[in-house]
Amino acid sequence: MKSVLETINGGASYLEKREVEDARRNMEHLLAKVLECSRMQLYTQFDRPLEEEVLAPLRELLKKRGEGIPLQHLLGEVHFHGRDFTCDGRGLIPRPETEELVEMILKQMPGEGLQILDVGCGSGVIGLSLAAGKPDSHVTLVDISEDALELTRENAEKLGLGHVDIFQSNLLDQVTGSFDLIVANLPYVPEGEAATMARELAYDPSLALFSGVDGMDLLRRFIPVAYGFLKPGGWLALEIGYDQASQVRLCLERSGFTEIEVRKDLSGIARFPFAQHQ
Ligand code: GLN
Repeated sequence: MKSVLETINGGASYLEKREVEDARRNMEHLLAKVLECSRMQLYTQFDRPLEEEVLAPLRELLKKRGEGIPLQHLLGEVHFHGRDFTCDGRGLIPRPETEELVEMILKQMPGEGLQILDVGCGSGVIGLSLAAGKPDSHVTLVDISEDALELTRENAEKLGLGHVDIFQSNLLDQVTGSFDLIVANLPYVPEGEAATMARELAYDPSLALFSGVDGMDLLRRFIPVAYGFLKPGGWLALEIGYDQASQVRLCLERSGFTEIEVRKDLSGIARFPFAQHQ
């Protein structure tokens, strides 16, 4: 019978051969899922022999991961800013950079009782993390995709966040009221990049990724309109593509925003524009 350690080593080399990045970490996550334990708990039971009833479902998962199905979809969950969110093909898989955006907002907006709007909420990770981090605020989450909204609703329920509003809207079309903060991680990938992207990205809804030839179509539409939905002194916070900072800055200036600052992500990429309503 194979031990936990032998199984991890074997699975990691299987995934490596199939060009899965971080093969060993992927393997550990999959084994932990089948054993219903945490990844760290694997390290305390390296010698444990594994029965066929564990190995059979594990082989299935490994096969799928080797074919390029994203780890987060196989686990059915993603850890984001300290909480576990359901993750499947209904929404974009949350990216680690986006946690940085949430962190920056929580630092930037010390006030209480804020009106917060998340546009293009996807699985809900940004808006729901803010609702959890600022329980006295009122958070509204909108998306054009009914699938994404369903996922957001499930995540809100799972996290016990009953005090949020979730509804369908194409950008701000169905939104009323004015906000202290509008946050948006809209689709920003140029359509032409589809052919060269990592195979895992084929499992993200394309509606959540692409936005015209230069990836800027939705941002160009959204930024001027967002200005009118902010209270005086209110903030807009965005996530954008690696080479879009100067265009987005221009668009923010033309729309009347002040205090424009494009903050860097941990890789040093100008990723998060923050701008204030006059
Ligand atoms: N960061 C994602 C990617 O490059 C894109 C997310 C988005 O378009 N908002 O895969």
